[in-house]
Amino acid sequence: MLRGVAGAFRDDIAIDLGTANTLVHVAGRGIIIDEPSAVAVRSHRGTREMLAVGRKAKAMIGRTPENVELVRPLRDGVIADFVATEEMLRQFIKRTKTMLGFRRPRILICVPAQATPVERRAVYDTAVSLGARKVYLVAEPVAASLGAGLPVGEPGGAMVVDIGGGTSDIAVLSGGKIVSARTLRVAGNAMDEAIVRYIRRQHQLLVGEANAERIKVEVGTALAAANGRSAEVHIRGRDLRQGSAKSIVLRSSDVAEALAEPVEALAEFVQRALEDLPPDTLSDIARRGVHLTGGGALLDKLDTALTRRIGVRFRVQNNPMHCVVKGSAEIIASLRAHEHLLMTP
Ligand code: ADP
Ligand code: MG
Repeated sequence: MLRGVAGAFRDDIAIDLGTANTLVHVAGRGIIIDEPSAVAVRSHRGTREMLAVGRKAKAMIGRTPENVELVRPLRDGVIADFVATEEMLRQFIKRTKTMLGFRRPRILICVPAQATPVERRAVYDTAVSLGARKVYLVAEPVAASLGAGLPVGEPGGAMVVDIGGGTSDIAVLSGGKIVSARTLRVAGNAMDEAIVRYIRRQHQLLVGEANAERIKVEVGTALAAANGRSAEVHIRGRDLRQGSAKSIVLRSSDVAEALAEPVEALAEFVQRALEDLPPDTLSDIARRGVHLTGGGALLDKLDTALTRRIGVRFRVQNNPMHCVVKGSAEIIASLRAHEHLLMTP
């Protein structure tokens, strides 16, 4: 028990298995892996070979033969590809174990709130098969609430909206319990798709989703005109009708227009969740504000747009993309206090 006296076990691993990014946190060390959730897969005569995961997998695309494709193992908040998910987890856990000389770590993995029992079991079994001493699962928005510093143990309600790549997840916690949780399949990816559609409609130009994501990050905003950012980006592509090369300029206000639909969908989703809460919980949340986490929360002026639209204050956490893994790390560091927040595998 000497190790307990020293504070925490030093071989505790917390993993945020996200649709867009996977992060690994180690007690006493911090975040040691932060990479895209991606696997490079080579298909050959009906067999699939997993070549690389994470950043390495992403870098391979475009530089390798055509039969190598980039698989996103988690899509829309579910495990879309079990084999690829397991391979990715395996590689990241192996790397962590090797780096730190762990033999039998305890591993807590954060899974999408809507993960089915079969999906949870697959994640659980993979971690067990890699020699974990113990494996725990927790729902992403619950971990996000802790990582955002919400007073989850206190009476009164607190709400977090975690906007990832595939889904936006709402969790309302009160007195240490989850009183409401819901998921919308509109988040970062849907914003990228909306930009692709806008450019095709307005300019007859075809851009890929990776390009659309870059546009969103560089000049995107949730508020048009005077209040949002004002920047512009040049885009080159092929004209859909003439087939010739063409270049256009997009301003932030154009991107705001492109993003109006997903932003409105998100606003309606949060509004409905608020309306369904008991009045007491609602007034607690109105007092504390709604906390935004996940990469989607970084969209310029999203908090302001939601605050105006809904009439409750929204605030973006510091490092919103780290909230889930930080919350997970907190849970595994003091398991006894957080036991009731764990999911059954
Ligand atoms: P997940 O939990 O699904 O893995 P993340 O929380 O890692 O997702 O967030 C990924 C999403 O955040 C992506 O859709 C990405 O485009 C988006 N994102 C990252 N940075 C920004 C930014 N500065 N502005 C807008 N969106 C962003
Ligand atoms: Mg996430």
